[in-house]
Amino acid sequence: MTTNRDVIDPVCGMTISMSQAPFNRLHAAATYYFCSTECTLKFDADADAYAAVARLNLPGWGQTPHPPAIVEQFLRAPDQL
Ligand SMILES: [Zn+2]
Repeated sequence: MTTNRDVIDPVCGMTISMSQAPFNRLHAAATYYFCSTECTLKFDADADAYAAVARLNLPGWGQTPHPPAIVEQFLRAPDQL
């Protein structure tokens, strides 16, 4: 049986099915899933910041459409959240 649970793309905040996520990355012992090449490349460029956003599990996280302003806000001023 394959694992098929919903995961959140840490870049755009979109909820995606793990089995259907086209891309993933292993970062700091956690696996992150992405909806698109664009999101994967953004994550690669600043993996620590995106992983930190994902760990915060903020309200509104997982909503579509992407990208949520909250990610931009975090990347600009992480201490403000
Ligand atoms: Zn995405």
